[in-house]
Order: sequence, then C-alpha cells, then structure tokens
Amino acid sequence: MNTPLLEIENLKVEIGNKRILHGVNLTIEEGTVHVIFGPNGSGKTTLVGAIMGLPQYRVTDGDIKFKGESITSLPVHKRAKLGIGLAFQRPPAVKGVSLFYLLKAIKGSENDILAAADSMNLKDHLHRDINKGFSGGEIKRSEILQMRLMNPALLMLDEPESGVDFENILLISEIIKEILEKEISITKRKKSGLVITHTGFIIQHIQADVGHVILDGKILCSGNPQEILGRIKKYGFEKCAECL
Ligand code: ADP
Ligand code: MG
Repeated sequence: MNTPLLEIENLKVEIGNKRILHGVNLTIEEGTVHVIFGPNGSGKTTLVGAIMGLPQYRVTDGDIKFKGESITSLPVHKRAKLGIGLAFQRPPAVKGVSLFYLLKAIKGSENDILAAADSMNLKDHLHRDINKGFSGGEIKRSEILQMRLMNPALLMLDEPESGVDFENILLISEIIKEILEKEISITKRKKSGLVITHTGFIIQHIQADVGHVILDGKILCSGNPQEILGRIKKYGFEKCAECL
C-alpha cells in the first residue's frame, strides 16, 4: 500500500473557546477526489481551514499527516509549499495588492499568468486589487486561477460553484479537472482533491470518488458521492444521522 496523501486522525478543532470539530477521521489516497456535504455551520470550512493551517482554527487534539509526515504544527506557508492549496469560500479583499502581483508571487512567468487569466475571463481583473469589488463569480474564478498556477498536490475547494453562473461553472469545472489530472488514467494520477459542495453540481463534472457527510463537527457517513447526494436531496441531512 502507498502512503496516503492525507491522513487525519481524531481531529478536534476550536475557534476561540468553542469546539467546532469533534474528532474527525479522514484519509485521502493519492489520485482520488473526496467530497464533503453538510449543512451550514457543520464545520466544513473549519476542516479545510485546519488542514491548511489557518491560525484561527486551533487544533486541540489529533493529528494531520501529509505524505506520511505530521504537519499539524507547520505554518500555512510551509503547508502550501508542501503542496496543499485552498480555494476559499469567502476570501478577503486585499487593498493595495493587485491580483497580478499575487499571481506573480505564486508563479513567475508572465506569459503563463496572462494565458491562464485569459482562459478564465479574468484578464481585465489582473491589475485590480485582489477581490475588491469583484462579483461573487469573479471571486470564485480568481480563487481557481490561483490554484491553477499553484498546482497543489491536494486541491481543496470550499464551495467553488456558489454564486457562479452556469457558463462559468462549466469553465471552472474544466480547469479543476485539469488541475486534478482527470485526463490521465487513475493508476498514473497523482493529484487529489477535497471538495465542499452544496449543490453537487460540480461533482457531476469532476467525478468524485468518495463522499462524506459532516454534521455538528463529525463525519457521520462515507460512501459513493452520487448516492449520498441523492439521499440528502430526498431525505435531508438529519436522516443521515438516523440511518446510522
Ligand atoms: P460550514 O463551512 O460547514 O458552514 P464553518 O466551519 O464555517 O461551517 O463553521 C462552523 C461553526 O463555527 C459555525 O457555527 C460558525 O458560526 C462557527 N464559527 C466560524 N467562525 C467563527 C468565529 N470566527 N468565531 C466564532 N464562531 C465561528
Ligand atoms: Mg463553509
């Protein structure tokens, strides 16, 4: 067996003094895409924030391993360098820093930046302050553009489709597929994904391998993502708790 790309054991996380995650276990193998479903406030953003190492999410128990090594005490930039990337649900606007400047810090080549921005209809946004005055859909596209240039081994997407119009959902799905190496065979594929979604729309396009339901800071069940989504649509999240 290969070492899993990501291994999370009994993860407990607090924000301020409030416990949000109550012992999460999750293993993501190389080359696979996992999806997380859960109602508002169940701890989805907290989970990806804790994996990324954002300082407001305090790990009080458990461990996060990436490529077999514990990363639980590493700062965000070291995790990013190791190959963990997060497209935020609600990224902040950054006054005084242009999107181009940020992309240049991620990847030096101007040609690559221009080509990638152009293909995502964001060429006119490059010299604007990051996210300042961007529409909801433009913010999401900007996040995916950053991920495309970062090209992380573990791509985490926090509700990438929310607020994005139909045409642009198809566009970002194509880019996400490219980052996740969906065009090459699963035996050769190295890239992994962790996707949070409400609509499930995105997973029809990117074909996820494993789905999980999170409720009140715990993963309640795991299985075929399409089947889980079908059940949630029919019976709601609360029934997931009952069927266990
Ligand atoms: P989800 O992404 O599943 O909607 P979150 O992980 O964002 O949920 O939030 C989980 C819980 O943590 C929610 O009840 C939310 O209100 C709370 N929370 C998030 N951020 C903070 C914060 N900065 N201070 C206090 N509580 C917070
Ligand atoms: Mg969230």
